[in-house]
Amino acid sequence: MTAAADRARMDPQLMLLLELQDLRAQRKELAESEQAGQVESEHFHIDPTAAGQELDLKIAELEGELDPGVRARYERILPSRDRVVVPVINGVCYGCFVSIPTATAGDQESHTDVQGCEHCGSFIYILG
Ligand SMILES: [Zn+2]
Repeated sequence: MTAAADRARMDPQLMLLLELQDLRAQRKELAESEQAGQVESEHFHIDPTAAGQELDLKIAELEGELDPGVRARYERILPSRDRVVVPVINGVCYGCFVSIPTATAGDQESHTDVQGCEHCGSFIYILG
């Protein structure tokens, strides 16, 4: 199985969540390097504050595209986790490192195809 094939059958909502996770990581990095004084404005085409605002806008835009059930879970796990989406490899959730039977690793409440780990609440994608 190739990574491209994996992406092709990936739920659009899960894609959104992965993009959000990436944007949030970028936003955090930007804020941290700004605090550490590592951002030198002359190396940027726009200033870091504007870049941060752009990221915030994009994050809000993508959050608006989440299904209500997915968004509710996302907002529930966001405060406690850096990563909202984690892989499941060999049946083990990489959010909590608990073995989860993939047959039951569905989220019955949210009425979507996006799966969540019943143990830690993270959104999951199955890698094997
Ligand atoms: Zn888990």
